[in-house]
Amino acid sequence: MADPNEVNVREGGGNLASDIEAALSGEVPFSNLPLADFSQEEITKAMQDALALVEKNLGKDYPFVIGGELLHSDDKSVSLNPSHIHQEIGHISKASTVDVGDAVTAAKEAFKAWSHTSARERAMVLLVAAEEMRHRKYELAAWQVYEEGKNWVEADADLAESIDYLEYYAREALRLDMPLRFDIPGETNEYFYEPRGVCVVIAPWNFPLAISAGMTTAALAAGNTVIYKPSGDSPVVGAIMVDILNRSGLPTGVLNFVPGPGAEIGDPLVSHPDVDLIAFTGSREVGLRIVRLAGDTREGQRGIKRVIAEMGGKNALIVAEDADLEAAAMGTVISAYGYQGQKCSACSRAIVLEGVYDKYLEILTEKTMQITIGPAEDPDAFFGPLINEAARKKVLRYIEIGKHEARLALHRDVGSLADEGYFVGPVIFADVPPRARIAQEEIFGPVLSVIRAKDIDEAIEVANDSDYALTGGAYSASRETLDRVKREFKVGNLYLNRKITGSVVNRQPFGGFKMSGIGSKAGGPDYLRQFMIPRTVTEKIG
Ligand code: NAD
Repeated sequence: MADPNEVNVREGGGNLASDIEAALSGEVPFSNLPLADFSQEEITKAMQDALALVEKNLGKDYPFVIGGELLHSDDKSVSLNPSHIHQEIGHISKASTVDVGDAVTAAKEAFKAWSHTSARERAMVLLVAAEEMRHRKYELAAWQVYEEGKNWVEADADLAESIDYLEYYAREALRLDMPLRFDIPGETNEYFYEPRGVCVVIAPWNFPLAISAGMTTAALAAGNTVIYKPSGDSPVVGAIMVDILNRSGLPTGVLNFVPGPGAEIGDPLVSHPDVDLIAFTGSREVGLRIVRLAGDTREGQRGIKRVIAEMGGKNALIVAEDADLEAAAMGTVISAYGYQGQKCSACSRAIVLEGVYDKYLEILTEKTMQITIGPAEDPDAFFGPLINEAARKKVLRYIEIGKHEARLALHRDVGSLADEGYFVGPVIFADVPPRARIAQEEIFGPVLSVIRAKDIDEAIEVANDSDYALTGGAYSASRETLDRVKREFKVGNLYLNRKITGSVVNRQPFGGFKMSGIGSKAGGPDYLRQFMIPRTVTEKIG
């Protein structure tokens, strides 16, 4: 079990054991980790040093982990740097379908003891791991620069969010550990939560540490055991997370790691009769498949599987006639092209009122022309590569579709970067019909559809005309318009007069509905409950 006294190796002094005790006792409430300020020389230097350190460690072998054993197989996948596709990040042993069965057995066995550990002990593991992540902050961000093509700021934000999840879910586990009592004379009633069992965590690559750590530690904090499958595009970051958590005091078999292609090991994982719950974040296509498969019961299965699925988006920003157009265009650029549009929350539709349409488009185009494009390790690059060749082909296909559906207003050339990595420059389509494919389908790349609306009624109607309901926003100077958008634009996370990406744990719990997902918001007060079973015990007394 985690012992903070044994990991009290803090640089710059401070006592970890007493800090963890203060968090566990509620004396130190949750607070978000501030983002790195790269305008400060010593912080830039720390990131440069971390990039150099990680570069020296590229190309190593990573095992899968079952029941505490580190296992290597001959069947390995190679993780590549999307900015420089000749550069290998690591070689990862793939778990087979047989290994998946072994992982479920190990997790089921470990559940017997882990489900009886106290919330305090479980929370302590998360807090110890959070401390290690803070300690290795720049190094962990640097891995994402190399493996996922995130620029410095995006990589740091993912890291901060990861630590926030650990700190937040540790405290949530303690909060939910207090049974509610409804006693009357002659009868006691107790309402409390218990863990569900074996949880399969299936994660995407685009927030390689934050989403993986969020789903995994929520499951663990609630007392479940976990089989974690990272994305094939972020296995090294996944392996590092597993190593940190396992060294932070998790007993053997509580967290198992099965990297491998979703198409091969996904179905056996989801369908296994001894899996009780699946926490998935990824595309609608895979999410719906998981929901369907999890709904079937197999021989020997004792319960109905619970599925938490966070899926895609086709997010819109409304620009009203009284909007500050400079701010609206800037908010659109950051929301549409941050991490090359590869965020579930990214803006892919700008719905602009007639009266300001031309002016907005002009400013938007100007600002998009100013974006700096380059490899992710370049501190000046705002815009980097797409994650892999399939993503590049998909985006290029949609650009061709868009040329038949709308007017191509801008497609930035990336020059020779396209030979070096998976680069596709930012794209703006103007005069896009609201029902066009480029305005309805999730592209997951830097392609923005600008749509004309005659008034705010039409803008809201177009904004809601989507299968998805994840994020959205509006720019307006009018209280009345903002209130109306708040009431009528139905999305999980709505942002007014600001960018629509970059939600923060606890302050902006995150998640959508319709085809964007089933589940309560990550980083919010209902999230952990989904990983638990509520029970009521009534006793007649006297
Ligand atoms: P993806 O659906 O392709 O993959 C997600 C995970 O599912 C990966 O680990 C993959 O290996 C696995 N997988 C693939 N086939 C599977 C199968 N048959 N059974 C089980 N698992 C399988 O998605 P991605 O490309 O990794 O991520 C991008 C998608 O994720 C986008 O649609 C984006 O909007 C969405 N996303 C949503 C959120 C959110 O919070 N709503 C956050 C991030 C990303």
